[in-house]
Amino acid sequence: MEIRIEKTTTPKAKPDQSNLGFGKIFTDHMFVMDYEAGKGWHDARIIPYQNISLAPSAMVFHYGQEMFEGLKAYKGKDGQTRLFRPEMNAKRTNESNKRLCIPELPVEYFVEAVKAIVKIDEEWIPTQPGTSLYIRPFIIATDEFLGVAPSKTYKFIIILSPSGAYYASGLAPVGIWIEDEYVRAVRGGMGFAKTGGNYAASLIGQVKAHDDGYSQVLWLDGVERKYIEEVGAMNIFFKINGKIVTPMLNGSILPGITRNSVIHLCKKWGYEVEERKISVDELLEAQKNGSLEEVFGTGTAAVISPVGKLRYCDDVMIINGGEIGPVSQKIYDTVTGIQNGTVEDKFNWITYVK
Ligand SMILES: *Cc1c(COP(=O)(O)O)cnc(C)c1O
Repeated sequence: MEIRIEKTTTPKAKPDQSNLGFGKIFTDHMFVMDYEAGKGWHDARIIPYQNISLAPSAMVFHYGQEMFEGLKAYKGKDGQTRLFRPEMNAKRTNESNKRLCIPELPVEYFVEAVKAIVKIDEEWIPTQPGTSLYIRPFIIATDEFLGVAPSKTYKFIIILSPSGAYYASGLAPVGIWIEDEYVRAVRGGMGFAKTGGNYAASLIGQVKAHDDGYSQVLWLDGVERKYIEEVGAMNIFFKINGKIVTPMLNGSILPGITRNSVIHLCKKWGYEVEERKISVDELLEAQKNGSLEEVFGTGTAAVISPVGKLRYCDDVMIINGGEIGPVSQKIYDTVTGIQNGTVEDKFNWITYVK
């Protein structure tokens, strides 16, 4: 893939690293590539970060034909720039694309594009502990047409956003609201795809949870509203009676790359890992008899988010005394260590940007 590069003539000032937050600041450049039926993906380019111009009739605005990804670049103490399993994001892109009738994007195009744009804006990768450069690739349908059909033209774009440490002072356990009214996805739907529509469906639950003082929503299955699925933008794990348990991928759960990595690590460490159905009743029971030892979410943003409190209807479960558990802490230290280059990359999870 050939990438045309047009550098900015007006570079922006780099932000203050102690106050980055998430998703508010964007770097100097962006990657863009076009798709046209009959021509395929073409015209890969890196250009100054700028607005995009689309017709108001562009299909993405009407029927939501779009997908996105999320990964990060990390700058280690050794000065090297690392990506964590980017080919997994590339493969997942095509799983999402298939479901959304978006044409396939070759895995090597995705990885090359990510490496190239990160390289151009490498100086934007923050270096303070816990900080990283968030990478947001996305594809939108651009045909000017109000009929309901897959678009024949698309744009693949990558933008970059320096992001702050998720935890300013240690891993703080969060409170989670188990949503018993609304659902996020159903089997046969598009829950496994990373697409805006799933998030549009989830906002109402998030607002409800926030209003009640909980930071995240845990979704139940869309049919019986009985089995655990996942948290807003994280997969969920439980340690019950010494075993690591997580909902199996059933089509309505997003197959997280952090989830996959955590399962791999826990198995290597000798834990029994079960991917299966978990009902809310089982959790309530495990909590009552003292076998619910740890609960944590997994995702690129936070790596591990320990859960200190789970609310379901009138029941409030306090997990591990509201403290982070040892397995959660060990996973967090190992994964962030691999990402920063302080823990050996035994599984070949790192791609270097050179
Ligand atoms: C992205 C995402 C996750 C986490 O996936 P990672 O690859 O681990 O970042 C989990 N759930 C949803 C709904 C997501 O969009």
